[in-house]
Amino acid sequence: MSLTVLMNAGPWLSVPPPGYGGIENVVATLVPELRRLGVRVVLASVGTSALPVDELVSVYPDGQFSALQRPYNQVCGVAQAHLAGVARELHARDDIDLVHDHVEAVGLATLAAMGPDAPPALHTLHWDLAKHPALYGHLDGGDRVRVNGVSASQLARAPQALRDHSVGHVHLATPLAVDAHRRPGPLKGDHVVVLGRINPGKGQDVAARLAHRYAFPLVLAGPVGPYHRPEDLAAAGDEARQNPDVRFFLDEVAPHVDGDRVRWVGTVAGRDRDDLVASARVALFPLRWEEPGGTAVVESLALGTPVVATARGCLPELIDDGRTGLLTDDEERLGELVLAAGRIDPEECRREAAARFTPAVMAQRYVELYDRVRQLASARLQPV
Ligand code: UDP
Repeated sequence: MSLTVLMNAGPWLSVPPPGYGGIENVVATLVPELRRLGVRVVLASVGTSALPVDELVSVYPDGQFSALQRPYNQVCGVAQAHLAGVARELHARDDIDLVHDHVEAVGLATLAAMGPDAPPALHTLHWDLAKHPALYGHLDGGDRVRVNGVSASQLARAPQALRDHSVGHVHLATPLAVDAHRRPGPLKGDHVVVLGRINPGKGQDVAARLAHRYAFPLVLAGPVGPYHRPEDLAAAGDEARQNPDVRFFLDEVAPHVDGDRVRWVGTVAGRDRDDLVASARVALFPLRWEEPGGTAVVESLALGTPVVATARGCLPELIDDGRTGLLTDDEERLGELVLAAGRIDPEECRREAAARFTPAVMAQRYVELYDRVRQLASARLQPV
């Protein structure tokens, strides 16, 4: 019997996303593999989504991401309108076996509130679970709504009510991992890369300080708030400081950016991103938060770049310390580890990614969870 899944990617960006888009990228990575496994996919997204699916349902013609810059009272209806459209769809049809939802907070709240008429649902938690304590601390999805995390460590820190609804975790994946061990390794340069949003949790200030202290060339790649290019940030003037990530960059990181030892290159995409990471000596993650899923970490492995990181969040699950990277609890030791990372074999990193972080591995695991969620939902309906 074939399975029909309504995959709810939300109203913010098309799938695949035009540039940055973590969740939309996960959906774009997962759906083709699910369909290869025979799952019928109805995608709930915006009208401009071009991912091949069996059916697209949408409320908005295009991505509403730019609305997120507006005040809450103007923007709070956007995700709700999208979810109301999904709820209408679920009420109107009977061919959906399961909802796989990715919409932060409102997706979970709506599906839990829909009651027994709605199909079983799996809500993937892509973010830091210290958020939304009032929602997560009192969640009641009955036997019908379940959640999964993107790492075990993320779930371990979740409120009890949320953990009670959990069916486990699924690590993130990257298409770069497919046959990664068969690709020839590119020539390594001398640089160390930090790939990610510029944000205190990602620790670019630590990386920049260490680069000067331990004398290694450092490239910081990623957006600063809404600014993707240094010239856009420069042109924005003082108003840009309203954004906390801009303030962090200007106050804590920029003083170390000298355009030589430490460079900020803005957001890199596509081939440029892959080349920058693949040619790096080390991918550095000087984390100051509990990284929930770490897409950039698995991408670095797939590109054959050893990871040096703070041992926080999902890092100890993704990195085999001493084999695919070097981890430490001590921020100050990261500099020494960057210098020691030459002993990690890039081939080993690529092999690890090909074995653990391909879209096929992720899809297989989700199919198992779909089965589990449906079993748990139907167990309650059986006569005792
Ligand atoms: N990314 C990118 N270009 C950049 C910086 C980041 O394409 O200049 C991508 C990166 O490759 C990864 C995603 O943005 O796919 C970041 O996801 P991750 O889970 O590492 O961090 P998040 O921002 O979701 O906390």
